[in-house]
Amino acid sequence: MDLIDSHCHLDFNVFDDDRSTVLANCQQLGINDIIIPGVTANTWDRLLTVCQQSTMLHPALGMHPMFMDQHQAEYIDQLNAYVSEHKPVAIGEIGLDFYIADHDKQSQIELFEQQLAIAHQHNLPVILHVRKAHDQTLALLKKHQITAGIVHAFSGSEQQANNYIKQGFLLGIGGVITHERATRLRKLFSSLPLSNIVLETDAPDMPLANMPDIRNTPENIPRIVATLAELRAESQEQIADISSQNVRQIFLQQKNA
Ligand SMILES: [Zn+2]
Repeated sequence: MDLIDSHCHLDFNVFDDDRSTVLANCQQLGINDIIIPGVTANTWDRLLTVCQQSTMLHPALGMHPMFMDQHQAEYIDQLNAYVSEHKPVAIGEIGLDFYIADHDKQSQIELFEQQLAIAHQHNLPVILHVRKAHDQTLALLKKHQITAGIVHAFSGSEQQANNYIKQGFLLGIGGVITHERATRLRKLFSSLPLSNIVLETDAPDMPLANMPDIRNTPENIPRIVATLAELRAESQEQIADISSQNVRQIFLQQKNA
């Protein structure tokens, strides 16, 4: 099987002791590529260093909307310079999170727009983190003419999913689908076109159902494929191949060219 984890924080310290073992296990399982999105400016260097460890790993750089207190105005110029120098596969993870308590809509929107402008300028796709803000996000994608990317851990409505698809976006599904109580999401991902679905773990976060280990890992991608195959008409092989093609078309073209 050809599998990709389109969203995994393998640079986090919790993987420092066994990162190469995890990667070797991934290779055994057919997980050939992993995209590691950036979260805060002070961890971009660590992320880039980790990505140099293996050709399987691909960096994205960005500032996550859940960590507003760690972002500063001058990091936007730094992001621009890092993108020119290090050529990440995407700007991410960026977005709007109006679910967290005491969020400041205005500063989130400002930071998001600045990062969308950088994505547009460098002609890069984006990796989005969005909660309770899908319509605002779609409007800003249109405003900045961003026509490619992933909505990571998508949990919006069917209509919002279709609007993202019209905008050229892929929708990420992870371990949450293994939970039987996630009925709405299981129904949605059983009917969305496979040409717009990508797989992700968001490891070390987002535990799967009946997961003994506290730490999620990219080695869990096959369980997500297996669950999707139970819910959909396609086989595990088909889901693996198409979802990987979806990621490659937008993010990993240079590598395959
Ligand atoms: Zn993430």
